[in-house]
Amino acid sequence: MDCLFCKIAAHSIPSAILYEDDQVCAFKDIDPQAPTHFLVVPKAHIQSVDEITSQNSGVIAHIYEVIAMLCKEQGLTGGYRVVTNCGADGGQTVGHLHFHVLGGRSLAWPPG
Ligand code: AMP
Ligand code: ZN
Repeated sequence: MDCLFCKIAAHSIPSAILYEDDQVCAFKDIDPQAPTHFLVVPKAHIQSVDEITSQNSGVIAHIYEVIAMLCKEQGLTGGYRVVTNCGADGGQTVGHLHFHVLGGRSLAWPPG
């Protein structure tokens, strides 16, 4: 499948990987929007939140465990934001489900 994040998760495209296991991969965003900005993706291809079902949702809980672990490891004691963009109106540009984790500065709300 011609999918950028499948290729990153399979190591066929290089990236700055922070953590991986059999289910998920976490790597630094190539265009960081905060001092800490990494992405966490399931290794299995899921297009977006819209494609989450009872069959594949187990990995989502695991992704949040990994996020909590990595944010502690990165020292984000002041807090952080987890964002997933879905579809065109949500601003999704890569069609493989991913969770942005942003931290290291105060983040405005609501987003634009
Ligand atoms: P979204 O707009 O929510 O689909 O987010 C896609 C994110 O992927 C953006 O923040 C991009 O900077 C990031 N991105 C695109 N290509 C790469 C890459 N090769 N390695 C790491 N991050 C990437
Ligand atoms: Zn994919």
